[in-house]
Amino acid sequence: MRIIALALILSVSLFACVTNAITGRSQLSLVSDGELQTMSLTQYKQFLSTNKVVTTGVNAEMNKRVGANVAAAIAKYYADKGIANSTVKYDWEFNLVDSKEVNAWCMPGGKVVVYTGLLPVTQNETALAIVMGHEIAHAVLGHGKERMSQEMAAQGLGAIGNAALGTDTKSVNIFNQVYGLGAEYGALLPNSRKMELEADHFGLIFAAAAGYDPRLAVDFWTRMSNLGGGQKPPVFLSDHPSDEQRIQKIRELMPEAMQYYRPK
Ligand SMILES: [Zn+2]
Repeated sequence: MRIIALALILSVSLFACVTNAITGRSQLSLVSDGELQTMSLTQYKQFLSTNKVVTTGVNAEMNKRVGANVAAAIAKYYADKGIANSTVKYDWEFNLVDSKEVNAWCMPGGKVVVYTGLLPVTQNETALAIVMGHEIAHAVLGHGKERMSQEMAAQGLGAIGNAALGTDTKSVNIFNQVYGLGAEYGALLPNSRKMELEADHFGLIFAAAAGYDPRLAVDFWTRMSNLGGGQKPPVFLSDHPSDEQRIQKIRELMPEAMQYYRPK
């Protein structure tokens, strides 16, 4: 079964790959950005309507400020590198949701959610920017699309047209597994180790370019790794690089990130 799935992925990937402009890495793509953004918006609105959004107070304000700073830094990053900005069609939103979960995500299209349960771990605005940089990097590096495409191929689904995507139960379920929306959809499809390292790498650069000291990332990831077993956040740490390996890699990335650091 596994071999059949693999063969399917290989045959599909021959004609359905895109190269990410930032990483230069070729990725399986069975869904267009437009299709994915339409689907994201539907699932995002549904998520907000069934969760408590924190709209006022210092934390909600900080969340929006950090998000706006990181988004602006990404636009500048694309401009400075002379590559097409994949976020031009994003309609950024940064919402804080009241939940004990230690979690955050960014859907394609720039819909970012931070859970209040993350804030005791971030402890400061800079660490929140490190997390947001990481989550937004997953989106701009096309990881959600790649995971969704891989799972569609594994389930024998071909490319799905725009009209069908939002209503096709299988593709909606895969999307929800990618973003961990609701336990009723089944297990979360984790990011690969490669994706995690890419998100750490470019997330650190984006946070630094947004004016946040990337050196605080080491302390933040150490706090994350010290969370108790029951509290281990799935999106950040399941099937992720080991904590030690991640922190070591982040130390190695620091000289590069510091080149982008523009203190405000
Ligand atoms: Zn991640």
